[in-house]
Amino acid sequence: MNGGSGVEASAVRYRCDGCGNLTRFDVTVTRRTKEFRHFTVGGEVEIESVDILAEDTESVACRWCGASGDRIETLPAL
Ligand SMILES: [Zn+2]
Repeated sequence: MNGGSGVEASAVRYRCDGCGNLTRFDVTVTRRTKEFRHFTVGGEVEIESVDILAEDTESVACRWCGASGDRIETLPAL
């Protein structure tokens, strides 16, 4: 057990031009992943690791004022 799925969101941050929000966004993401699934004899499954093969951010919307598209600024990852 490693205590987690191992999936990390991409490090990109966002800023809302509408209200200045930096912290809360609805992000719609398409991910293509490869999972290591460990099945028990009883049929239960544990996902032991996930490799992200591809990730595409479809849209980002501000949770506070609802702005989206060009009004959401992408900040470079640290
Ligand atoms: Zn906003």
